[in-house]
Amino acid sequence: MLIVQKFGGTSVGDLDRIKNVANIVKKTKNEGNDVVVVVSAMAGETNKLIDYASYFSKTPPQREMDLLVSSGERVTSALLSIALQSMGMDAIALTGRQAGIKTTKDHTKARIMDINPGKMQKHLKEGKIVIVAGFQGISEEGDVTTLGRGGSDLTAVAIAGALKAHKCEIYTDVDGIYTTDPRIEPKAKKINMITYDEMLELASLGAKVMQSRSVELAKKLEVDIEVKSSFNPEIKGTLITKETPEMEKVLVSGIALDKNQARVSIFGVEDRPGISAEIFSKLADKNINVDMIIQNVGKDNKANLTFTVPETELELTKKVLGEYEQKAEAMEYDRDIAKVSIVGVGMKSHSGVAATAFKTLADENINILMISTSEIKISMIIDEKYGELAVRSLHKAYNLDK
Ligand code: ADP
Ligand code: ASP
Ligand code: MG
Repeated sequence: MLIVQKFGGTSVGDLDRIKNVANIVKKTKNEGNDVVVVVSAMAGETNKLIDYASYFSKTPPQREMDLLVSSGERVTSALLSIALQSMGMDAIALTGRQAGIKTTKDHTKARIMDINPGKMQKHLKEGKIVIVAGFQGISEEGDVTTLGRGGSDLTAVAIAGALKAHKCEIYTDVDGIYTTDPRIEPKAKKINMITYDEMLELASLGAKVMQSRSVELAKKLEVDIEVKSSFNPEIKGTLITKETPEMEKVLVSGIALDKNQARVSIFGVEDRPGISAEIFSKLADKNINVDMIIQNVGKDNKANLTFTVPETELELTKKVLGEYEQKAEAMEYDRDIAKVSIVGVGMKSHSGVAATAFKTLADENINILMISTSEIKISMIIDEKYGELAVRSLHKAYNLDK
């Protein structure tokens, strides 16, 4: 079998942990499998490098940022290869470029365009364990790019797809996907199997256990993923796979919390055709990810517009929308918000799920600032300080601890 194994930051957090990873990989290889390993940077390393840059600039040049942060993954790939070779295993470490990962030139959030697997296949054929530095690729211009935070998950899924691997295992510091972040609610339960769509919602709504783009790609390529713990590799993890008719449709499968959003409100902007197009085109041109847009019915030819953006893109948003400080009656920015979301495919066919959510928050005296829903999710923006309380109350209200 060809197996792709990805190890996240905590799993390679220090030298002993890298040794532990080397043992897992060695065991897999010795069982007769071909193995491609994708590694993250050591825990905290990417943040440290970003902090270094912020010493010099609030908006550092993105090309150089990619060169900077991609180094973290190179360190671990080389160390793991050295560790494996010291154990008598044949291994080779590759950068994203060497692994043939071609991306767009959108620095800090590049998309994978194509993977040329020739080099990886050649080394596998020679019996080597191939270790790839996650999170990175190369643009047409030959510049190093990165794939967005958590991007090593995407590297692993893309490689599994390109090599038609039999299995893609994502090793992390929890032993699977839980009904909510077990660090917030210790009563959270491990889920045995979850659909791509549910995982995609959970991930894009803040459950950082899987990068959302990696789940999107897994769905597209039909790569089955098992999320499991590098600390307890024998324990079966969670399978992320496609929805089948036999699958039990749970009403609510999980709760996610995202504290990394910021609210932008534009009050009293001109109410005429094209105003939203104008504002959101400006943001799109800068590649800013806008979420949860709310516009109410206008009055006296004035409208109010509220939306959220990732906190990390708030400075850029302020810059892009600077002109509306004059053009609108008022503008407001709020970093202290949290988005709490309920996800479940069963919602499609059940009513009352939203009412339960609103009642639960009301009982805790938590005010809801914004609401948005889709077929399989309900999201609410609340004051950041109540984020964890909201998650725990909702977890209980939907009996997820049972
Ligand atoms: P890695 O470094 O391995 O990529 P991450 O830190 O990106 O790991 O993701 C793992 C973390 O995701 C867990 O430690 C957990 O706190 C968090 N998490 C959030 N939501 C969930 C969830 N529903 N199930 C499991 N873990 C979750
Ligand atoms: N090291 C990168 C990050 O922290 C990528 C990853 O770990 O997946 O975002
Ligand atoms: Mg991660």
